Amino acid sequence: MTIRTRLKDKVRHRCTEGHPWIYDNEIARVEGNPAPGEIVVVQDPKGRFVGQGYWNAASTIRIRLLTRNANAVVDRAFLESRLREAWKHRELFVDDPRFCRVVFSEGDRLPGLIVDRFGDVLSVQVLTLGMDCRREMIFDILNEMFRPKAIVERSDVSVRRLEGLEMRKGVVRGELPGELIVNENEFRFHVDALEGQKTGFFFDQRENRRLLKPIAPGADVLDTFAYVGSFGIHAAGWGARHVETVDSSEAAIAQAQANARLNGVAERMTFTAANAFDLLKERSAGRPAHDIVILDPPAFAKNRAAVEGAMRGYKEINLRGMKLTKPGGWLVTCSCSHHVNRSEFVAMVLDAANDAGREIRLVESRTQARDHPVLPAMPESEYLKTLLVQVL
Ligand code: SAH
Repeated sequence: MTIRTRLKDKVRHRCTEGHPWIYDNEIARVEGNPAPGEIVVVQDPKGRFVGQGYWNAASTIRIRLLTRNANAVVDRAFLESRLREAWKHRELFVDDPRFCRVVFSEGDRLPGLIVDRFGDVLSVQVLTLGMDCRREMIFDILNEMFRPKAIVERSDVSVRRLEGLEMRKGVVRGELPGELIVNENEFRFHVDALEGQKTGFFFDQRENRRLLKPIAPGADVLDTFAYVGSFGIHAAGWGARHVETVDSSEAAIAQAQANARLNGVAERMTFTAANAFDLLKERSAGRPAHDIVILDPPAFAKNRAAVEGAMRGYKEINLRGMKLTKPGGWLVTCSCSHHVNRSEFVAMVLDAANDAGREIRLVESRTQARDHPVLPAMPESEYLKTLLVQVL
């Protein structure tokens, strides 16, 4: 039986323009009683077909569209073709697709599914009920497509609660090899797929790390919110004189040290497990000591209501980061909060510069790597802002 839902009148609905989400309060009526995760047909207020998507009565995002094709059947073959389409995109656009984000949720028309590939291991996040109902099928398809040594599930993320789902984490196919290494640009990184943050590694800054290449030689670098040291190790590998790596997580710092050794740059790096806010505050009272300061914090704004507080946090670290940058030096400043848009972010950086009494020049304004495709119809899908700023 086809379950039809009709959108409310008067909303020039973002869904008819390509956005895949339909909220609970946007649905005028539902024919039938869809089961959790079941596919429903969505119609506009005049009864014209909009798309098909999966249903979750427990979530305020009631429907997520999977297809705009009225004849599509959302079965194993459908999911496999979407996964193959995603993989084709990586083969086209990623230098070494053995190490990349294979599936980026809505950006790949697979809402609620994230798949990262670390060579022979896949790390998967299942974020929605509609995907959770199909998880075994998805693991089977991925297993056939990539023949990995292991598939790890990292569905230990709190957004699952909004979907009425429990946290889940573990090896779901195969067996994890003892050591897992990712190649990125010219460098190598250990990855802990089971215990690392999120899926274990952040591929989204891959191309942005290359911003460091021309400015790294001879530089004194402060890399804050460093996680496993990726930015700093790129800087050291490209000739920085010294890199100080700061992260509040002891586990991340230990991993960063191992990565520095793996890349033969450990003797030019130091590692500090500390709260970056405190460290930046303390240091910024002194003289500007760094040629490059990197700020790559976690998303401070988890929702719209948190934006104001988040902007204060961003401004504080940017202000202090600029004070620590020598005249003519560089600030690499990032935000991965999709609730903060690019113009707000640039305005905040300028505001911080004014307060710091420094002129700035925006050298480059970048977004996430190409294996995190953006839907223009869905502004949230473009979440990463990475700016290279010269602090004069
Ligand atoms: N720069 C990293 C990714 C950073 S993710 C990369 O390129 O891969 C954000 C990091 O900030 C996490 O490693 C987290 O442990 C760290 N973090 C969160 N709050 C912090 C704080 N107050 N001080 C220092 N580090 C913090």
